[in-house]
Parts: sequence; structure tokens; C-alpha cells
Amino acid sequence: MRIVLLGAPGSGKGTQAQRMVERYGIPQISTGDLLRAEVAKGTPLGVQAKAAMDAGQLVPDELVLAMIRNRLAQPDARKGFILDGFPRNLSQAEALDRMLEEMGSPLDVALLIDVDFEVLMQRLTGRRTCESCGRVYNIYTNPPKFDERCDACGGALRQRADDNEETISNRLRVYEAQTAPLIDYYRNQGRLRTVQGVGEIEDIFRAITAILDPIAEAEKEAAEAPPAAEAAPADAGAAAREETAAPEAAPAKKKPAARKKPTARKKAASKKKAAAKKKATAKKKPAAKKKAAARKKARRR
Ligand SMILES: [Zn+2]
Repeated sequence: MRIVLLGAPGSGKGTQAQRMVERYGIPQISTGDLLRAEVAKGTPLGVQAKAAMDAGQLVPDELVLAMIRNRLAQPDARKGFILDGFPRNLSQAEALDRMLEEMGSPLDVALLIDVDFEVLMQRLTGRRTCESCGRVYNIYTNPPKFDERCDACGGALRQRADDNEETISNRLRVYEAQTAPLIDYYRNQGRLRTVQGVGEIEDIFRAITAILDPIAEAEKEAAEAPPAAEAAPADAGAAAREETAAPEAAPAKKKPAARKKPTARKKAASKKKAAAKKKATAKKKPAAKKKAAARKKARRR
């Protein structure tokens, strides 16, 4: 399952990403971490990136993409990834798509954790950090028991210098200006899925799994399917005949994902189910096709 994770600073996407890693067994690839690691290790890419940063320039997209490509080649990313921190703008998104298509592993979902500007402001300006142990609080959403004192060690709580209102407001506006076109881009592709990042962490995660579980399931199914023979074109007549012979509903996930209008969908469903069932038993669908169908199906919701 290949995911781009989108969310403003303070959206809670880090917390949600951790849970996604646990549930789906795919790595979170943060381009910030990736960059730091390459620089620290002094790899050729890291050296080039450091030169750019030392010169006060942004690290060129091609460098970041090359790092991502290397990272994706590692065994733990074979089942997919959660990409975090990249792309940040439209041209990066296009470049990423080109690279992934080239690698034969296009994105499944761009998952946006959406939070209102005002809520983000409160979350970010309310942040306080313990000077002694580094524990993080929020005076609005997660206050210490005693004012300005750490519950764990009694240390003094401080606001980071760059957590003031003006800096944060600027940071958020820049983020919004850059990502708005990105969000449109993924929406136009039909890949954008949005969850509201407000409320309990558990509830937000449940909304995420409602989107991702069907994709993960379909992938698992496709992986378990025996090597696929070339499927012959479906015979609509045979499918219709089979409908009477086998009225038992096939499992919902076997349903092919043709795009239908809601009214037409219901009518077509039983016919399709029968066709799908026949296909499933008679001639296994190629794995890739199945996966694409599941992806379409997931997007439609
Ligand atoms: Zn402390």
C-alpha cells in the first residue's frame, strides 16, 4: 500500500503515521529523516545535499527523489510505504508520480489529515516542553497538573522560541499556499482521501483504517492468488445464467469495481457478483488487475 501522507504541522499526522506503520507493516518514510541520515552517513547524495544546505539553498528535488528511490528499494518497503514530508508542492508531486510509475509502483492514496487553521494555531502555540526531561505538553489540550511544571519530573515548562504566534501563523500560511494545489492535484487524480484530524486520536485512526483496510485487504488477496493465467473477456450471457444457478451472494470484496451511477450500481451488482464469482473460480484475475480494481473501489467511497 503506497501512501502519501498530507497534513499541516500540528495535524497529528506523526501520531497517526506511527499507528499506520504498526497496523499495516509498512515503513513511514520521512524525507526529513532520510535527508539527515544521508548527510550524517556522508553518502554521495548526502554530500550533495549538504553542499546545497551549506550554501543556503533548498535541497534539489532530484536529490530528494533519488534518496526516496534508494529507500524504496529496501526490503521493508516492498509491501508499500507511508511517505511523509514529500511532496510539498505540485512540481514535486508530479516528479514523484513519474518516478513511481517508472518503478511500476504508483501511489494508491494521498491521505490528507485535515484540521482547521484556528485549531492548528491553538495546538501549536499551546505547546510547552519540559526543560529537564523534554516531555511535551499543551496548555489547551494536554495541560500539566500544575501550572508550568512537568508532571513527570517537576521541571519548568518552556515555549520554544519558534512556537510564537507570528512564526506559527506564517508557517501555516506558507504550508497552505504550497499544499492547496497539491491537494487539488490528487483530488483530480481520484487519489485524495480526507479524514478530519479533530477529536480523539482513536477516532481519527478509525476513520483512517476505514479507508485503508479495504486496500490492504485487496492487496493481501491479490498476493495470495495463484499465478494468474490470461483472463478471457467476460461472457455476459454466461454470467447472467450463472446468476440463477448460484443465487448465493459472493463476498463483497469480490465485486468488480466498475464506476457506476448509484442507481445503476445496485441493479448491476447481482449480475456483477455472479460474474465475479465465476471469474474467481474459473479463471483467476491477474493480481495487478485485481489490485487496480480494489484501488478504484476504495477511491469511489
Ligand atoms: Zn520533565
